[in-house]
Amino acid sequence: MEIKKVLVEIVGEENVRDALAELYVYGSDASIHRELPNVVVRPRTVEQIQKIIEYANNEIIPVIARGAGSGMSGHSVPIDHGIVLDMKGMNRILEIKCEDMYCRVESGVVDDDLNRAIKPFGVFYPPSPASSRIATIGGEIANNASGIRSVKYGATRDYVLGMKVVLADGEIVNLGGKTRVEAAGYQIHRLMVGSEGTLGIIVEATMKFIPLPKLRCLGMATFEKLEDAGNAIANIIASGAEPSMLELMDNIAIEAVNTAMKLGLPDVEAIILFEADGKVKEAVDFEMQGMKEICEKHDGKVTAMSYDAKERTKIYAGRKKLFPALSRYKEGFACTSLADDMAVPYSKMAECAMKIHEIAEKNGIIMTAYGHCGSGVMHTKILMDTTKKEQWEAAKNAVEEVYDYVDSIGGITSGEHGIALSKAPAWKRARKDLVEAMRKIKHALDPNNILNPHKLMDAPDDWLTATPIRYRVKE
Ligand SMILES: Cc1cc2nc3c(=O)[nH]c(=O)nc-3n(C[C@H](O)[C@H](O)[C@H](O)COP(=O)(O)OP(=O)(O)OC[C@H]3O[C@@H](n4cnc5c(N)ncnc54)[C@H](O)[C@@H]3O)c2cc1C
Repeated sequence: MEIKKVLVEIVGEENVRDALAELYVYGSDASIHRELPNVVVRPRTVEQIQKIIEYANNEIIPVIARGAGSGMSGHSVPIDHGIVLDMKGMNRILEIKCEDMYCRVESGVVDDDLNRAIKPFGVFYPPSPASSRIATIGGEIANNASGIRSVKYGATRDYVLGMKVVLADGEIVNLGGKTRVEAAGYQIHRLMVGSEGTLGIIVEATMKFIPLPKLRCLGMATFEKLEDAGNAIANIIASGAEPSMLELMDNIAIEAVNTAMKLGLPDVEAIILFEADGKVKEAVDFEMQGMKEICEKHDGKVTAMSYDAKERTKIYAGRKKLFPALSRYKEGFACTSLADDMAVPYSKMAECAMKIHEIAEKNGIIMTAYGHCGSGVMHTKILMDTTKKEQWEAAKNAVEEVYDYVDSIGGITSGEHGIALSKAPAWKRARKDLVEAMRKIKHALDPNNILNPHKLMDAPDDWLTATPIRYRVKE
């Protein structure tokens, strides 16, 4: 095949794959979507990427950058086939500069590997998503990922100082810099944050890091009513408290981890995990006491609170393994990421959690409400028998109802996982103004539309038929 021959010349035979089994691996991510690329290439240098992009741009072949493929909405699924650019070969940490509090990495570096490398210097890179064991820095930037500690420390966008990018015509540009502040023209490195591989290939990133807190204290509160837990979260934030983690789990999430992991968590409507960190014990105690009192004011029962690392691991165990546990909630059911990470105003957190249950019941499916609610993200997952066509139709209705509701309360389609394919129809409906502006930017930077085409603003209007799905549905 012509494409393969050219790529082999650029990166060598060992870095090019087109066997069917391997194309299948690269044809899906953590979403429901599936489509095969023509070929997968694993570049090792910026120059190789530049040559690949120049070739693809001349021949108008789609190029889809892929980190770990942990995107939940079809981000790296090659909807138009083409070349999947596996960035995991670009995994070197290039510089750790403690006196200036930044590091420079190739974009295929895995989040946990970066944190392991900088930990001995007493610093950490905080926005880590729950997928940090596999997710790459490039994928996190392209998605503006955030995680359990974003309630205090912010999202990826808050840590990007600069980057090196290969544009769609093969030009290499250095964006941003290494300093904390910059007022030197367009902040184009920030435009790359959340670009989902549609504007350029991020090959290198300069990320700031911050000192590791000396102390962490984690607590658990149980609630007989989901509504009380949602209101407690809103109140904790409004009180001016500074949680470093504030997580919600509803009864379905609790049941799922109890079933999968035999954790023996209490049979209640909701659990909140709340954490504070810092340098001084009195200050951390003060934060913890304040959050405890708010939970109790909302009829929560604080069942655990500990500074001890082993104890904290135990308290956090259910939340940590929640995603895989949801797949084992019910025999024959799968956990699908459809409407899964809405950004919601704090004042509507309780109402939103209850609305999700109401919509699930109305449509005859199971939906859970959980997540990084402290940073304003309400997660849901739809648990269903994916072999049944009726369940997909019900899920489709439910997804639409969830997004219409979120839009009506001033929320946003995605707070964390991005748009790609699954969320594009709802997001395009809600943000018609943005869609056109984004198309103009995309056209200016990628006139031949080779970079991850037909995603985000250009994605199809029906997520269910956008690509084949990776489940077998009985007719
Ligand atoms: C169990 C689980 C838990 C998760 N938890 C969270 C969470 O807590 N918070 C959160 O935000 N997300 C979470 N996610 C979603 C996902 O892991 C993150 O969005 C992550 O940032 C994706 O990184 P990745 O390397 O897998 O990127 P991929 O999925 O491979 O790619 C994601 C997007 O980035 C683009 N991209 C990748 N690398 C580059 C590059 N070098 N240059 C340009 N574009 C690039 C791709 O084209 C694609 O559009 C979770 C996923 C799973 C499966």
